[in-house]
Amino acid sequence: MTDLSDDKITSVRSGLLTWWHANRRDLPWRHTRNPYRIMVSEIMLQQTQVDRVIPYFHAWLERFPTVHELAEAPTAEVIRMWKGLGYNRRAVNMQRTAQAVVQRGGEFPETVEELLKLPGIGPYTAGAIACFAFEQDVAFIDTNMRRVIHRLFVGVDVPKPTASDKEVLAIAQEVLPDGDAWNWNQGIMEFGALHCTARKPLCLICPLQDECAAFPEIQAALAENGKPGRKTKSVPFGQTTRYFRGRIVDALREHEGQGVALAEIGPLLRADFSDEHMTWLVELVNGLERDGLAVVAEDEAPYDASEPAEMRIRLP
Ligand code: SF4
Repeated sequence: MTDLSDDKITSVRSGLLTWWHANRRDLPWRHTRNPYRIMVSEIMLQQTQVDRVIPYFHAWLERFPTVHELAEAPTAEVIRMWKGLGYNRRAVNMQRTAQAVVQRGGEFPETVEELLKLPGIGPYTAGAIACFAFEQDVAFIDTNMRRVIHRLFVGVDVPKPTASDKEVLAIAQEVLPDGDAWNWNQGIMEFGALHCTARKPLCLICPLQDECAAFPEIQAALAENGKPGRKTKSVPFGQTTRYFRGRIVDALREHEGQGVALAEIGPLLRADFSDEHMTWLVELVNGLERDGLAVVAEDEAPYDASEPAEMRIRLP
């Protein structure tokens, strides 16, 4: 049963904040309260490791130092600067957010409710900007925070969490310390990233062991969950839609300006490309266009008008 007694909350807060102040990493976005910079870091950190994000974060801010430069940049350049971070849609969505902020005078709203009205901003990013830029006492959860809160207050989370995201968020709201949400939220994230990790939580040296609802069962549950045969087979990355979309955007980056003919893209994606793959390819390209990552245009009409015009794809 979830224990949210005052004693437990007080002990967890104290243990976690002490751990945070002793173990926090010195990361560039922890030195700023600028909402644009916080947004850039948070969007980059979604699905990308901290170490990889740091050089991108600096390069991005050099090229687009404020929300205005990002809003006004050619989208093709925004996509080019994102090269290597993956999930290119994040870059295009972030530019849309920047354009909406510029339209409202260049100032980010400060509340979660208002931030959520911006295009491209979901509950997590809205909470992160409100807390990390404007130091508001708001709760929000990402993967790490969800895991830590679940283990501390609900119990073992493998093979599946027993509490829903909504329930975990409600707990996160309940345990948020008044006036110190910035440190608290950063601390939970950091604890999940470095100490209470998904597969190898450091339970034996954990300062929160006595308070933890998942200890000691979590270790046996993880060992059982990691046994061969427990894992469901996943599709190799090189066969996923995400992979093929990334390859197309890479080709467009290399041919910025004139773009690439559709017929030339197919063989870049798969060696056995043939006419029967054309519908699949057109769907991929249309998906990229819908997400603002590509523009599909017909090439100049051929001299013989009975021939169909060829499709060319380019960055926006
Ligand atoms: S005891 Fe283990 S599961 Fe519980 S908070 Fe600590 S590291 Fe995480």
